[in-house]
Amino acid sequence: MTASRPIPVPDDLSADYWAAARRHVLSLPRCSRCDWFAFPPTETCMHCGTTTPMYRFEPVRGRGSVRSWTVVRNASLLGFADRVPYLLVDVELAEQPGLRMVAQLLEGPETVVHVDDPVLVTFEDIDEEFSIPAFTLAGGSTANRTTSPTPDGSIR
Ligand SMILES: [Zn+2]
Repeated sequence: MTASRPIPVPDDLSADYWAAARRHVLSLPRCSRCDWFAFPPTETCMHCGTTTPMYRFEPVRGRGSVRSWTVVRNASLLGFADRVPYLLVDVELAEQPGLRMVAQLLEGPETVVHVDDPVLVTFEDIDEEFSIPAFTLAGGSTANRTTSPTPDGSIR
């Protein structure tokens, strides 16, 4: 059998994030002083500079647009070996300029994506305890974006 996929290890700054993800809600840390979303959270708020941001987690809609993407073909961790190739998208969420999040695009590695393509967060339940955020294309009229299979015929 293949190695199992690594699971998250929540800490004080991420426990609320993972708990919300389990309910299929994307909840991001927000500085309690200036309301800036800081993701991932840093010890000092990068917006107002406070060293005591006391982040609170707030649900976001999970809508955003593609800024960049890459196809991962080599698993850097054994637990991902049976998942390559997969497509990672770098998404700017609608809530705040520059609020970026990188996650897998579930349509698969052959999907043709463009800068500004709208995406919507979704969740993959990986075990009894954790759900991992991912993205799916939110475009309506351009639904069929997949290209033909790769030259060796593999799709996934
Ligand atoms: Zn702040």
